[in-house]
Amino acid sequence: MSKRVRVRFAPSPTGGLHLGGVRTVLYNYLFARKHGGDFLVRIEDTDQTRYVAGAEEYIFNTLKWCGLEPDESVQHGGNFGPYRQSERKASYRQYAEQLVLAGQAYYAFDTPEELEKMRQDFKTTENPSPQYDHTIRLKMRNSLTLSAEETSQLLAAGTRHVIRIKMPENETVSFTDMIRGEVRFETGTVDDKVLLKADGMPTYHLAVVVDDKAMEISHAFRGEEWLPSAPVHILLWKYLFGIDQMPQWAHFPLILGPNGKLSKRDGAKYGFPVFAMNWTDPKTGELTEGFKEKGFLPEAFINLLALLGWNEGTEQEIYSLEELVEKFSMERVHSAGAKFDYEKAKWFNHEWIKQSGVGSLEPGVGNLLKENGLEVPSRETLRKVIELVKERCTLLTDFVQQSSFFFKTPETIDTAAVKPKWNEAKKLFFTELIRNYELATDWDAHTLENNFKEIAAVNELKPGELMLPFRIMLVGGKYGPGVFDIAALLGKAETLQRIETAMKLLQD
Ligand code: GLU
Repeated sequence: MSKRVRVRFAPSPTGGLHLGGVRTVLYNYLFARKHGGDFLVRIEDTDQTRYVAGAEEYIFNTLKWCGLEPDESVQHGGNFGPYRQSERKASYRQYAEQLVLAGQAYYAFDTPEELEKMRQDFKTTENPSPQYDHTIRLKMRNSLTLSAEETSQLLAAGTRHVIRIKMPENETVSFTDMIRGEVRFETGTVDDKVLLKADGMPTYHLAVVVDDKAMEISHAFRGEEWLPSAPVHILLWKYLFGIDQMPQWAHFPLILGPNGKLSKRDGAKYGFPVFAMNWTDPKTGELTEGFKEKGFLPEAFINLLALLGWNEGTEQEIYSLEELVEKFSMERVHSAGAKFDYEKAKWFNHEWIKQSGVGSLEPGVGNLLKENGLEVPSRETLRKVIELVKERCTLLTDFVQQSSFFFKTPETIDTAAVKPKWNEAKKLFFTELIRNYELATDWDAHTLENNFKEIAAVNELKPGELMLPFRIMLVGGKYGPGVFDIAALLGKAETLQRIETAMKLLQD
């Protein structure tokens, strides 16, 4: 019987969630949904020195914004808790000690000074940063070099110690990655990683294996940066639970920025977001911009992340979450690094804005306008404005600039763009237009356009030459949707007033 599909996202709460982190969430989520399994979030907070307040809450807020809610977590409950590793502390030591008893791990009593001395003493040009490994372990202070009695005494006296895995000198271990196929490692090149720290907390290596087993994880997906740790994990699975119990693994490709691995600094340097949502480092106060605040729709963000490392093998690029659940497969995730292209990311957002219904854009745009001090007279007006300008907005934040003239009189009017061609005939035309519009009983775009064209014809003027001045009078600049749609929505009084104000300015 095949195991129930259970996957996990296992973040360490050390800061904001980077693109790559959210992509890991997404692929986990898609896989779980596709196979009718469970998706859980486990907080890996055993490294107390890296713990950052607020990071855990941020992670859950991000998942909520993305619509990737887990089935089980600290916040969602579940039968496999606790879902925070620090709260599982008591469960790890027995496994580390079991390994010591079996000769697969050992106690190490080396002080930080002794470790530093080792790094200095064994440093050579070929090996500038010596590791605690099979070539060195017998020169250190541990239960392999001390007598059983000495070791017991040190332990009984409560001497600070760690437990390290004893990596075999000469073994080949391998596993089959769902993306990369067979991956092999020589154990002799891997150091004796610490499994249990002096504070009694496990390291990631021990905790990930113990918890993946305890939480009945069937598939473990993580970033490529974890591949070098795989041999340690494979051995731990073999020693503790049996290799047949090990989840199936997949290691996702790196996300590349303009110069190699995408970093937080790239964002600041090139002006694009790297985190899902704004993140302020509580220690330094440094703000790292998020896709959400930059004006991305969660649908677009998910869509672009899905394609950063996966494709279906067709030309299709726009996918909804439901469609991704249906089409996604781990076998089509690439093993080569995926290049992040901000222009392409914006293209996805533009496509999503265009195809989003007014109803779904309304809350976000409404809030944004309010935050920017624009007073929207009614929901109906807001809906009409969104419909008119959404084609022109690449980012949600573009709605502010693209629609502010609907809600307040433009502060500046680009008269310089009109003046060179402004003449008596045009002046007469607009004077007549004011008169005509004043008397208009129907105030809709169609009537306004007809009247405009009729007056132009009577005056033997080309409507094309009058449209730009009209637009600039209403909007302030050379942008915006159809000018008669704008006038219709502005209403009679406001339209007439804007024409008059602009004409006065053109007179000066
Ligand atoms: N805690 C690890 C991280 O922060 C998780 C790696 C894994 O998923 O096994 O990325």
